[in-house]
Amino acid sequence: MVDLPLFGAFTYLSHFDVMAGQRVLVPFGTRQLCGVVVTDIPPEGLDDSQLKQVIQVLDGLPALPAAFMALIRFAASYYHFPFGQTLFTALPTALREPREISLPDERPYALTSAGLAAMPTARQKAKMALWQVLSEHALTLAQARKHTVQASRILAEWLAAGLVERVEACAPPLQLGNSPALNADQQAALDALMATPDGFQPWLLHGITGSGKTEVYLQRIAQSLLAGQQVLVLVPEINLTPQLIDRFTQRFPVSRIAVQHSQLAEGERLKGWLDAWQGKADIVIGTRLSVFTPLPRLGLIVVDEEHDGSFKQQDGLRYHARDLAIWRAHQAAIPIILGSATPSLESVANVAAGRYRQLKLSQRAHGAARLPQIRLIDTRRAKLVEGLSEPVIKAVANRLERREMSLVFINRRGYSPVLACTDCGWTSGCPRCSTRLVLHLMERKLRCHHCGWEEAVPHACPECGAPDIKPLGEGTQRLESALGRLFPTARILRIDRDTTQRKQAWDEIYRKVHAGEVDMLVGTQMLAKGHDFGTLSLVVALNADGGLYSADYRASERLFAQLTQVAGRAGRAEAPGEVLVQTQWPDHPLYQALVAHDFDGFAASLLEERRIAAFPPTVYQALLRADAVELAAATRFLNQIRGQTQELAEGVLISGPAPALLVRLANRERAQLVLESSNRQALHRFLDQLPPLLDTLARQYRGLRWSLDIDPQEM
Ligand SMILES: [Zn+2]
Ligand SMILES: [Zn+2]
Repeated sequence: MVDLPLFGAFTYLSHFDVMAGQRVLVPFGTRQLCGVVVTDIPPEGLDDSQLKQVIQVLDGLPALPAAFMALIRFAASYYHFPFGQTLFTALPTALREPREISLPDERPYALTSAGLAAMPTARQKAKMALWQVLSEHALTLAQARKHTVQASRILAEWLAAGLVERVEACAPPLQLGNSPALNADQQAALDALMATPDGFQPWLLHGITGSGKTEVYLQRIAQSLLAGQQVLVLVPEINLTPQLIDRFTQRFPVSRIAVQHSQLAEGERLKGWLDAWQGKADIVIGTRLSVFTPLPRLGLIVVDEEHDGSFKQQDGLRYHARDLAIWRAHQAAIPIILGSATPSLESVANVAAGRYRQLKLSQRAHGAARLPQIRLIDTRRAKLVEGLSEPVIKAVANRLERREMSLVFINRRGYSPVLACTDCGWTSGCPRCSTRLVLHLMERKLRCHHCGWEEAVPHACPECGAPDIKPLGEGTQRLESALGRLFPTARILRIDRDTTQRKQAWDEIYRKVHAGEVDMLVGTQMLAKGHDFGTLSLVVALNADGGLYSADYRASERLFAQLTQVAGRAGRAEAPGEVLVQTQWPDHPLYQALVAHDFDGFAASLLEERRIAAFPPTVYQALLRADAVELAAATRFLNQIRGQTQELAEGVLISGPAPALLVRLANRERAQLVLESSNRQALHRFLDQLPPLLDTLARQYRGLRWSLDIDPQEM
């Protein structure tokens, strides 16, 4: 397998002994590439003289383990992505390149009996210092360096003279830092997790915000470590903070923890990956890519905030780390814990179907802490000043006076404006399917991005005739500047994609917040990710309505999760928090469920809606996207494919082609086909046949690109 966008493997002749999972250097065209051996069994009927030869075995490392290769094989076939590219996506960058990597020898040094007898003289100060420690216990090179900077040179000299030898390291016995007492809910959840026998078991740990899910993970992880197992902990991109790592380090002070994420320096990432693979790391904490880390003694997987969108990769190999983690747990026959305050509907449906077991934490971890009061402010009746209602302005002013921090969450509805009537609540729905039509102002058109339906923009509300129809969620920027004008003395800290780009950005934000240098946090989705900003007594949500009626059917699920998360920032300690939500639909079931803190009721009604509309998780979906310089070419390509494959699509519904929600991106225009079926196997049987057809047809179009997105999270 090589790192090229080609389905299928290549056959080479090898004069070296090779085995599956080994890295080799091979000629490919005019280049030399790193390849990974899939099998050493030759296909039948080969003419050896036609084959190119393996140049070299890159054998500083053992062969990649069979369980890892099986995971890659599964991911490639499930996501219909070239096997070679899947494999190379899963490897750290250093292992993708055609160069030798070897395992560092980290075995400690110990004195031999000859060494013990050869005490250095007092004048040899550095040697004496090192010898004295070594006469008591063995030392790794890193430890030895702490006693003298010349450790490396001295040890090499002694090793050559037979005065020291390398010995096998034995892992220190597990030590546990202080763990706080659990409340009744946490204890019951932990007891259930501890009591289950070995084997595959997915758990959904559904705990309200502030209920102490992490503490339950930590105590269950201790059990696995005690049994000598390795643990994999997946967290959303944004939650992998130094605070979280500190918490793990304090709890497991001698356990070896490897961190894996894409921002890590190449060498560090490689070291952690190799340590995990060689069984030297006990815990791997990381973002989605760490789901591929080989772990020979894997005994438990934890996926924190399992509903989070960052577990899905949006380009290249479009995998979902939570779903692959489930597959891994099944393959390794171990338990997996999915934790969230607002689980994904997929997981809720899996609990309902009896595939997952659910554990609930319905109290806040700290006895006195209560859930915040959520109040809806009806903007149809309230007098607005620059888009802000009087109760909101008063509440913010009040916090400023009391020198308490408030948080203002502004929902950005993204790039899909949906028309709504402010009088009767009508929204622009598609007459052919259950999605919303999106406004395209330039062309004065409403368009469905699911089935391709188009119509002219109405001049007045089709329901009640009111002329006041406008896109939902307008004016995000205006709201932000209004806050500055209304509260000129407030120290406002903006948190969005731009202000959190830099590496140390979050450290700086935390420092300012905890040093009391901030009066008001203002931001978008970034604020809804489970950060600990200390005690907030006020949370305000503006412009949330855009998520109620969106062209993307997942928008309301996401909105509920985001509002629950931001609301959860309020009143984490003794003082109960206040949450204000401005809306023109205060009676909407989503807001009613939010006020009642009723996730279960909301999830049940949403699942029912999805069932009626035939959307996931009731059906399985895939998107076939095509992009070209002009939309017309992408659409023609998809129409042709649709025509060619209609007969093969047994039990599969094909909708479109329709322009993508975001039509233009990087000077290219995108269209898509939606492929769906209530039967996952039927969908995948159909998908299996597509890549060769797509490749062949794409060659007739200059510069056209296509991609498949299985279980898409964004339309
Ligand atoms: Zn109306
Ligand atoms: Zn439609």
